[in-house]
Amino acid sequence: MTKVRVRFAPSPTGALHIGGIRTALYNYLFAKKHGGTFILRIEDTDQGRFVPGAEEYIIEALNWVGLTPEEGPGFGGEFGPYRQSERKEIYHKYAHELVGLGNAYYAFDTPESLEALRSAEANFTYNHTVRDGLDNSLNKGMEYAEKRIAAGDAYVIRLKVTPGETVHIPDLVRGDVMVQSSELDDKVLLKADGMPTYHLANIVDDHLMEITHVIRGEEWLPSAAHHVLLYQRFGWTDTMPKFAHLPLILKPVGNGKLSKRDGAKFGMPVFPLDWKGQSEEEFFQGFREAGFIPDAVVNFLALLGWHPGDDQEIFTREELISAFSVEHIGKSGARFDFEKAKWFNHKYIQDLGDAELMNFVKPLVQAKGYKVSDEYLQKALAMMKERVTFLSDFVEEAYYLFEPVRKYDEESIAKKWNTNLGPFFAGLKDILVTFEPFSSLSLEDMTKKMMLESGFKPGEILPMLRIALVGTMKGPAVFDTAELLGREETISRVDSFLQHVQAN
Ligand code: GLU
Repeated sequence: MTKVRVRFAPSPTGALHIGGIRTALYNYLFAKKHGGTFILRIEDTDQGRFVPGAEEYIIEALNWVGLTPEEGPGFGGEFGPYRQSERKEIYHKYAHELVGLGNAYYAFDTPESLEALRSAEANFTYNHTVRDGLDNSLNKGMEYAEKRIAAGDAYVIRLKVTPGETVHIPDLVRGDVMVQSSELDDKVLLKADGMPTYHLANIVDDHLMEITHVIRGEEWLPSAAHHVLLYQRFGWTDTMPKFAHLPLILKPVGNGKLSKRDGAKFGMPVFPLDWKGQSEEEFFQGFREAGFIPDAVVNFLALLGWHPGDDQEIFTREELISAFSVEHIGKSGARFDFEKAKWFNHKYIQDLGDAELMNFVKPLVQAKGYKVSDEYLQKALAMMKERVTFLSDFVEEAYYLFEPVRKYDEESIAKKWNTNLGPFFAGLKDILVTFEPFSSLSLEDMTKKMMLESGFKPGEILPMLRIALVGTMKGPAVFDTAELLGREETISRVDSFLQHVQAN
């Protein structure tokens, strides 16, 4: 059996959309499942759309989610180069070979003459109905063409599509997709600047790189008929890859394709990593910077268009590899449910081991300039772990574990504070100065005793103590927080709180 070889073939025309990561993931899972090879190929033949930094972004994003290619630019492999801009001669050779086979032809029509034809007829298509009247080697002969090429005239090479054929696209998701060749145009294969179009480069490379399966987004399905024709015309049908076109990713509201602008619109990332383009509108937030764990993103994306056949939702990487099958990829669009992504992230954070969690959060703590010991951080993480959705919550929402309270929940203070509580808190503060041991349990015991003696109910004291320590009614258990903060900080917070309520 031939060894499975799949490729992820992005064009470096900007930040890689999260849908691109899903495509990469499905290719990766398929390769791993079949003991195959996962290849990265950079499709950068469209010089006009080249964006600096985009290739680096793609590689960084793949590394972040742990989808490291076995072959690709910078990854080694025997089928390189893996950047299409470095394979120009190869495409040139094959385009001319196709002309030699009588399946492609030279065309000299200038952009202006084509523009004139298009403005005269809105639906103008360069195809079998018009090509015999245009400036090409089919109409005017090979001798004419060779002379013009020798004279240095600009030309393109077009695929000669024969009308009246049914083109079958064998798609593992959609079955046999049929297209009538009469509806297809004579696609340009080699452009006037000597660069190949996507269609030619893609087919030549898939052939030479011995790709066995093409797994890519549904938006490429309309191109697939031309691709199948190219395999046929080159005489490569025996090794033509099988196709699997992945369903569209839809907006969170259900209808319409998820677009890069939806990130800002719905307040969620739709890119793997932050992307800073030239202008402010070109800033896109990434899942990484939003505080996601890469494995959670992988798990979320795996189920965005693929279903395991049962109701399992949490999958380790190994489980995904063994459960994945192209047959279980859906045909209809998959809704980008950001709430679900959050749910996965929360679950993954809860399940992280102490050391792993530390590795994720420590850089965030350091970036904020907080100076705490590993031991302190470890305890803080353990306390918050159950309560956070994003990694950033550890330093944003739970900032109070690293710096004094910035803001008190005034509404709760207004409801619960009364001046009679003043002496209780002042007394508590005094006791704390020497109280031993300064541990959650003993502090709780001692406070309970104080409440019993003074006749205050826990519902009167504890919410206010919580607000004194963390500023809000939410957050970890109040005595655990006190133990973590330690004697000095706890006293100082009770003190600040008293000053605050007494001043108001
Ligand atoms: N370069 C195309 C893209 O940007 C690749 C499509 C394919 O996989 O054939 O998605």
